[in-house]
Amino acid sequence: MDSTELYRKVLLSISGNTLVEKLSLKYGKKLASKFISGDTLAEALAEIENLNSKGIMVTLDHLGEGIKQLSEATGYKEEYIRLIDGIAERGVNSNVSLKPTQMGLALDPEACYSNIRAVVSQAKKHNNFVRIDMEDTPFTQATIDIVLRLHAEGLTNVGTVIQAYLFRTEEDVKQLIDAKVKLRLVKGAYKEPGTVAYQQMSEVINNYKKIIRMHLDKGVYTAIASHDDRVIEWVKDYAAKHSISKDAFEFQMLYGLRMNDQEQLARDGYRIRCYMPYGTMWYPYYTRRLAEKPANLWMVVKNMFK
Ligand SMILES: Cc1cc2nc3c(=O)[nH]c(=O)nc-3n(C[C@H](O)[C@H](O)[C@H](O)COP(=O)(O)OP(=O)(O)OC[C@H]3O[C@@H](n4cnc5c(N)ncnc54)[C@H](O)[C@@H]3O)c2cc1C
Repeated sequence: MDSTELYRKVLLSISGNTLVEKLSLKYGKKLASKFISGDTLAEALAEIENLNSKGIMVTLDHLGEGIKQLSEATGYKEEYIRLIDGIAERGVNSNVSLKPTQMGLALDPEACYSNIRAVVSQAKKHNNFVRIDMEDTPFTQATIDIVLRLHAEGLTNVGTVIQAYLFRTEEDVKQLIDAKVKLRLVKGAYKEPGTVAYQQMSEVINNYKKIIRMHLDKGVYTAIASHDDRVIEWVKDYAAKHSISKDAFEFQMLYGLRMNDQEQLARDGYRIRCYMPYGTMWYPYYTRRLAEKPANLWMVVKNMFK
């Protein structure tokens, strides 16, 4: 295991500690704000307009996950319906992303299904698209099942995310391409054991390229969500060498990271979408960002002294 992988594992472990969480919630909000567009929908919509003016599309995420009571899911569902309406009223270029455990997947899968169905139906009315983020492996199959079930019901404006670090990924991609489910391809952000996931970054990147190729070679539209130049430059080269149009895929990056590069990709004619979170439940999202890269932690430490 190299030092970056060790750093990631240690940080993900520390962030699960209750005391660390309490201290961060008390003192860390300002530091987390770098990665979050605001507390409210109004702030997020204004920021979407700003990014759209630079040629960057958005996927809007209302922060929340791992709810403890099913009643919380109702609030999240209603907020998603409001934000889908808000996007339509404002006329901005944004779809939405949500987390299955925010809609109750860990508590009551059937209730989660009907919450997500309500959100996807509302998006369909506005000709918009819902991305179901992928969480850790206890939820992988259940998330895929929800998406396939919605497609079978004719709600095809919903897609999900596939994580290159999982051994099962290639089979999932084959099945989901056959079912015409749109995918966002990522490396994977959670702490997963060696029994189910590659532990070496080189193996993750090899698998990542393999599943990207599976899309590009078949002409299936895909979203490649990464800040890694080794991946981004490879995709640009591969597309150019195989005469694959820049419209056949999109890049995605997270709000607050590589914003200048996001603008540059747009100027270079690539489709680029920014994953923009808003809301007050920022802790788990924030700690995953710190775990991804020592430089993200360094950026936060520097901000502490500004
Ligand atoms: C839009 C989006 C949606 C996502 N959705 C999910 C999801 O649903 N489920 C999930 O498990 N994961 C998700 N992820 C997270 C993903 O799985 C990875 O954990 C995360 O993207 C880190 O991997 P990376 O490829 O971006 O680069 P990393 O592995 O973090 O970094 C690799 C290299 O990229 C370069 N780099 C990275 N960040 C920067 C930077 N800020 N500035 C300059 N260079 C940089 C550096 O050279 C670095 O060494 C999502 C990521 C994105 C971008």
